[in-house]
Amino acid sequence: MINIDGTIGEGGGQVLRTSLALSIITGKSIRIDNIRAGRKNPGLLRQHLTCVKAAEAISNADVSGDKLGSRTLEFAPSGIFPGDHTFDIESAGSTTLVLQTVYAPLLVASEPSTFVIKGGTHNPLAPPVDFLQEAFLPILAKSGIEIELQLRRYGFYPRGGGEILARFIPAKDVKPIVLTERGKFVGMKIVSVVAGLGGSIAKRETDIVESKFAHLKPKIQWIECDRSEGPGNVMFAIVRSENVTEVFTAFGEKGKRAEQVGKDCARDVQNYLKSAAPVGEYLADQLLLSLAAFSGGIFRATSLSSHTRTNIEVIKMFLDINIETIKNEDDTFTVNVNK
Ligand code: ATP
Repeated sequence: MINIDGTIGEGGGQVLRTSLALSIITGKSIRIDNIRAGRKNPGLLRQHLTCVKAAEAISNADVSGDKLGSRTLEFAPSGIFPGDHTFDIESAGSTTLVLQTVYAPLLVASEPSTFVIKGGTHNPLAPPVDFLQEAFLPILAKSGIEIELQLRRYGFYPRGGGEILARFIPAKDVKPIVLTERGKFVGMKIVSVVAGLGGSIAKRETDIVESKFAHLKPKIQWIECDRSEGPGNVMFAIVRSENVTEVFTAFGEKGKRAEQVGKDCARDVQNYLKSAAPVGEYLADQLLLSLAAFSGGIFRATSLSSHTRTNIEVIKMFLDINIETIKNEDDTFTVNVNK
């Protein structure tokens, strides 16, 4: 049994998700105390409970402490069982963070699996579906890992009601992920998605980002969702380079001007373009689990976030691997996972 103190590092939901994924992959039982102790509302929220339920379903685990608000969880997996599942978070909790929990075990299963997950699809503080489709999954695909991800219906906070479909094809001969150079700039796209909100929000948001990066000749896309999917608003700037695509996200919210949403998005793009590293802050913490669970690899990141450091700490509790982080002269970080 591995005892995990949920206060380590970030002290958030990621400690739970990475621990569940690696518990299933290694077959090691876990006990997590102080779940999400670093957050204002500690314990298992609906989204985290759905992660536990999903992990339980694919591993036939013996579980205790799997209830809302619980701060302690015991989880003893008995294998990896592929299958087709539907989970409803029953709130706007993030569907993509449920995926983050189950994708790695399902790729080492004997057969493909399908997951339909209902809840939030575009949540602040979680990977938006577009980020996974454009940035994360293509990197995995290059190393031989196949996950299909469809957005069936948008779900925004607070209403939720979104739906994603993911299909996991077990991976054979996964190659190490090597992502140390961005390569040449290929193109940029600015997208604004508006659901159930009037006015010219999408244009005002994309105009701001477009004006700052006019020299990069960005393409613009406005998506108007069905009213029933709202209210909600999110925008992305998708920066494509030869070796990597990065996605920068900003959310509209009540009382926040569309111009400010555009400025927030533009600032993140600007910071990325100033750095030479291919991997942004969020990609970095998310890639780590794949490198650790499959064939290792090396990447260079713009920064080493607290989420990334926490994930390294949790991974080392399960796997006897060497994860080296080096600060480079240009303030980027190289992360090397030796399997
Ligand atoms: P809590 O900490 O409240 O439990 P949580 O369960 O949502 O929250 P965190 O531990 O904060 O989880 O992890 C959030 C995850 O979402 C991280 O993997 C982070 O990289 C990812 N993420 C957050 N914002 C973005 C974004 N804009 N784009 C892509 N990924 C994001």
